[in-house]
Amino acid sequence: AAKQLTNIHSGIKNALIMLEHKRKHLNINLVEDYDTSLPEVHALVGELNQVWTNLIDNALDAMAKNGSGTLTIRTVKDQKYIKIIVKDNGPGIPEEIQSLIFDPFFTTKEIGKGTGIGLEVVKTIIAQHSGTVKMTSHPGETSFIICFPIYN
Ligand code: ADP
Ligand code: MG
Repeated sequence: AAKQLTNIHSGIKNALIMLEHKRKHLNINLVEDYDTSLPEVHALVGELNQVWTNLIDNALDAMAKNGSGTLTIRTVKDQKYIKIIVKDNGPGIPEEIQSLIFDPFFTTKEIGKGTGIGLEVVKTIIAQHSGTVKMTSHPGETSFIICFPIYN
C-alpha cells in the first residue's frame, strides 16, 4: 500500500462507527474535540484506521467493567505536530505493567478476549509514519497520545 493524503478526523470517525455498537452496549459516552485546523496527512489509510480501532477498543474494554464511562478523542495541532489523544476513565494501567503493554503478546485479558498485539501494531504503524505514541495513566484515567510530524 502507498501513502495517501488523508483526513485524520474521517479515519477516527470510521473507527468510531466500527465500534459504535460495542460502545453503546457498554453505556459509554463519547466526547469528540477536534481541531478543525488539522491539515491532511500523508498516511497509510487502512493502517491508520487500525491504530484508532485498537486504541478505542482498548479504551472500551478498560471501561467495560464500570458499566459506564466516557471516551474522549481530542486532536490538536501545534507548529510541528498533530496530536491525537484517546482518553478513557477506566481503572488505569497499573504502574508495574506500564513498561510491558507495547510488548507483543502482552495481555491482561482473558483467553479469547485479547491477543496482546494491539499496541504492538499501533507502535509499528505509528513508527512507519515517523510519529510517536505515548501513554499516561493513573488510577481512573488513561490517555494514549499519538504525535505526527507535519511536513510542508
Ligand atoms: P489486548 O487488548 O489484546 O490485551 P493490547 O496490546 O491492545 O492487547 O493491550 C495490551 C494490554 O495493555 C491490555 O491487555 C491491557 O492490560 C493494557 N491496556 C491497553 N490499553 C489500556 C487502557 N486504555 N486502559 C487500561 N489498560 C490498557
Ligand atoms: Mg487491544
